[in-house]
Amino acid sequence: MKWFTAVARVLLFIAAGTLVGLVFGHALVGTILATSAVVLYWLQQMWLVEHWLRDSSQAPPNVHGLWAELVGHIYRQERNASATISQLQSTVDYLLQSFAAMRDGVVILEDGGAIRWCNDAVQPLLGLRYPEDTGQAITNLVRVPEFKQYLQAGDYTTPLVFERGGEPKTHLMLVATRFAEGDILLFVRNVTDRVQNENMRRDFVGNVSHELRTPLTVITGYLGTMLADTSGLPPPYVRALEQMDGQASRMENLLKDLLWLTRIETTERDAKDEQVDMGALLAELQDEMGNLHPDNPLQLQVECQERIPGDYRELYSAVSNLVINAYKYGGQGKPVIASWRKQGEDYHLAVRDHGRGIDPVHIPRLTERFYRVDDSRSSMTGGTGLGLAIVKHVAMAHGGRLNIESRAGQGSTFTIILPQRT
Ligand code: ADP
Repeated sequence: MKWFTAVARVLLFIAAGTLVGLVFGHALVGTILATSAVVLYWLQQMWLVEHWLRDSSQAPPNVHGLWAELVGHIYRQERNASATISQLQSTVDYLLQSFAAMRDGVVILEDGGAIRWCNDAVQPLLGLRYPEDTGQAITNLVRVPEFKQYLQAGDYTTPLVFERGGEPKTHLMLVATRFAEGDILLFVRNVTDRVQNENMRRDFVGNVSHELRTPLTVITGYLGTMLADTSGLPPPYVRALEQMDGQASRMENLLKDLLWLTRIETTERDAKDEQVDMGALLAELQDEMGNLHPDNPLQLQVECQERIPGDYRELYSAVSNLVINAYKYGGQGKPVIASWRKQGEDYHLAVRDHGRGIDPVHIPRLTERFYRVDDSRSSMTGGTGLGLAIVKHVAMAHGGRLNIESRAGQGSTFTIILPQRT
């Protein structure tokens, strides 16, 4: 409608010009003059609008008709856009303020690992300075190999705990999350106290186990001597001695497992660089099991011939714990299968049994020290309750993990998943 009015006005104006020209005997001159006036007027309006658009922070120009409509539309849109921008800005400011106020360190990295923003708390932790370090690659400033590897590997499913050099030594936990297009949000927390407590606990258990070994060796030595010749002893004494001997050897196994677990934990970060032939390792275990279960030998499925870097003794202890459990809990005479294969980028070392299986509620807690599904049954089988904790720690020390699958009545499969290391 507005267009119609505007066009009608122009036509009327030109018609009026023609009419005036006609009165003076020059209709064409009148038409040309009227048309030129219209064009000049439009050009002037356009100039005003264009001038305003160059810097729309000024007040809108005093234009008329269609031009006034146009300016009105643009003005309203500008106002809406700047309201949205200031709303977004205040949201961003709010988020940054909350990150800035956090006691944990926060760093925002742009694609490629360049620092975009960081809060005050992270600066002493990682030795960064803001805003001076903006745009610098964080790995050039935090020169810790594990930190660099972790960021570059790009698998942020588990946090990284690493030691930052300097005195006093600090242990930091890093949680990384990807967001937007390749940007990374880092949360850094000082976990030195936690790591020190954990080390103290580990050392304490290790030292106590070590100290208890010597008296226990003396006790078992005397018990062995006494049990070697029981002819002069009354039967109740003999039974008591036998029970003491049984319990003493249980205790010996427990101390042995505790010391072994402490050693695995303490050497967890050491390089595991032996080239381990898993096929040979499983064959050795098969021989050992053959002596214990001659009627039900361990079945092997070795599908991969590659050697992997690792610690032979640790890997042997892990698989033997799984195989011993598979015989213990897998049902009398039922087959036990150990397999070794490559699956994608990972190696899978699996032990499968055909026993009663494990109720899913227990699975997440099975690798805790001394956790047992059925206490009476487990103590009857002579286990220490540390077997699966050892397996889990060996897997972790090799950069891998333990996966447990079980179905009621159909048995269980314990798989040590080891990543391929370059
Ligand atoms: P334990 O010395 O008691 O065997 P482990 O740490 O090796 O200690 O195992 C923890 C618990 O997990 C066991 O007590 C048992 O209840 C359960 N478990 C382990 N392996 C199996 C299996 N193959 N089938 C069923 N239950 C199992």
